[in-house]
Amino acid sequence: MLSDTIAAVSTALGEGGIAIIRVSGPQAITQVTPLFRSRISLADAESHTVHYGHIISPVDGEKMEEVLVTVMKGPRSFTTEDVVEISAHGGIISVRRVMDLLLQQEIRLAEPGEFTKRAFLGGRIDLSQAEAVIDLIRSKSDRAFSVALKQVSGSLSEQIHILRHSLIEMLAHIEVNIDYPEHDVESVTAEFIKDKSTEVMEGINKLLKTSNEGKILREGITTAIIGRPNVGKSSLLNALARDNKAIVTDIPGTTRDVIEEYVTINNIPLKLLDTAGIRDTMDVVEKIGVERSRAAVVDADLILLVLNSNDELHADELALMEQFKGRQCICLMNKMDLPSKVDKETLLSFFEESSIVPMSILEEKGLDKLEEAISTLFFGGKLESGDLTYVSNVRHIALLKKAYRSLMDAYEAAELHVPIDLIQIDVRLAWEQLGEIIGDTAADSLLDQIFSQFCLGK
Ligand code: GDP
Ligand code: ZN
Repeated sequence: MLSDTIAAVSTALGEGGIAIIRVSGPQAITQVTPLFRSRISLADAESHTVHYGHIISPVDGEKMEEVLVTVMKGPRSFTTEDVVEISAHGGIISVRRVMDLLLQQEIRLAEPGEFTKRAFLGGRIDLSQAEAVIDLIRSKSDRAFSVALKQVSGSLSEQIHILRHSLIEMLAHIEVNIDYPEHDVESVTAEFIKDKSTEVMEGINKLLKTSNEGKILREGITTAIIGRPNVGKSSLLNALARDNKAIVTDIPGTTRDVIEEYVTINNIPLKLLDTAGIRDTMDVVEKIGVERSRAAVVDADLILLVLNSNDELHADELALMEQFKGRQCICLMNKMDLPSKVDKETLLSFFEESSIVPMSILEEKGLDKLEEAISTLFFGGKLESGDLTYVSNVRHIALLKKAYRSLMDAYEAAELHVPIDLIQIDVRLAWEQLGEIIGDTAADSLLDQIFSQFCLGK
């Protein structure tokens, strides 16, 4: 089924220093050989070597492009098949010349994600690792990247293997005892099932607990910056954008008419909602009627209410504090370099002490405190717990929950002395559900859906 050879441009399209065209398949080397003129024939090249030469027309030998060609023989390659990577000049014509020649060699254009899919089918990575490759490409903060990188290396897979191993032990135990219906054997088995399923449910719960943080790290905390005119909202935005390696992304084609911008405060990614809108209309309070700003507040996970501490609290601000009660809201007392006129007691009637952050954007003070306040609100204050295994993929979360449910069923059945061959069904189901996370028990349609999310050439 996988005997055909696929090719695609693996670098971003357009002009660049170089473009890399990747070719994979059992015949990849044989098929590229007649197109490549070099000191030695590609067919004789050793694995993992790089060769300078020209891509030529196999018809008349005309030089079509000057390239470096890398040969990687399977299974020690990304796809586990023979792979040839052609580094060409990074231009549209160059890439088209090489691709045209390849496609004339009974090599076909790869589908999006097909290289990674072959790595999965070849057993080099499992499904959760393949999905983490997508996360790597899309990650918007250093930390999200680190989390994805850890998952690519198999951190989640390892946890899943441990849990499934316990389930296999359970199934084996049930199998052995299923033919001995004497009462004492059965009750011992029931106890064993209860203990073991509790143990695995705890393991699943531990993973699920990371999912909130995982989602936040992956997608950012949706944040709205709110405040009266001149309190320093734009200054905050600029400070965040300047000091924090902001990755500015417009996401065109999203159905909602909302502009999102990503910045990070130390390690915490914030997705600033509709900040362009806020920036344009400048002052949300003044134009609180403006639909976009209102939407930004409604959609936000986090509201940053900026105050000028050099001013007394304004009725508008009190109204906002009232409105934000029960929401995740941090009160930024800006301009602390000036004498403070804000009544702290009033603030404390609306906010926890830890959610009031004195700062001076002018003097670049207080951003670290803001980070602390955010981690307290969203991560219980211990974001830096070191272990980077987070479950953030909705598919994984759903499957973990299903497996938990199945084990709960097994536990309850054991308690009610249901015959163990019936309990076995639940345990097996949990085993399959966990297996679907790593792709051990995943349907073809699911694989297609997952790999189609990749970009071309990956
Ligand atoms: P916005 O209307 O809320 O967006 O406020 P801006 O960011 O445009 O800031 C209004 C004014 O306050 C500008 O002149 C800033 O330089 C000044 N400003 C901002 N942050 C501080 C601060 O921490 N201390 C002082 N003294 N001035 C600040
Ligand atoms: Zn402003």
